[in-house]
Amino acid sequence: MLMLNDFLKEVVIIIVGKQAEDIADLLHSPKYVNEFIIAKKLGITINQTRNILYKISNYGLVSFIRKKDKKKGWYTYFWKIDVIKSLDFLKNVLLKKIEQINYQIKSRETKQFYICERCNVEFNEENALLKDFTCNECGGIFTMRDNTKLLRELKRNLDKFNKKLELVEEEIKKS
Ligand SMILES: [Zn+2]
Repeated sequence: MLMLNDFLKEVVIIIVGKQAEDIADLLHSPKYVNEFIIAKKLGITINQTRNILYKISNYGLVSFIRKKDKKKGWYTYFWKIDVIKSLDFLKNVLLKKIEQINYQIKSRETKQFYICERCNVEFNEENALLKDFTCNECGGIFTMRDNTKLLRELKRNLDKFNKKLELVEEEIKKS
């Protein structure tokens, strides 16, 4: 079962990449966290840490406070993740995915597609017609694509994303 922390990790992965996912746990804190401590815990440099934080910050999903070091005169930044905004971000990503899959399903259910089996390339009906159902590359004749398997896969994906969306929405209600 997916948990809030998994969702926050996923947000970081979408924005920064898999290598940065561990920062999600550190930023998910009731208190703001010192960026030097984040860097130390992740085993990366302060500049690498800031780069990650700025990327997430561009989406408005983290907030910070800063404190001045009285002796040295410089500022240290303290960060935390905005849970609600991050969940909303993930929700929108999922909604877009679901929309795309629905579009693909509709297209596969209502339109004809053709393939050159030898070259493994696909054409929609208009393009296949333009090419006279003949492959430019190998001269082979197109066959009509059987969409059954693809549709099953798309619907399975749709289910998966819909379930995830439900879980994210539950987390949003809880937060
Ligand atoms: Zn071909």
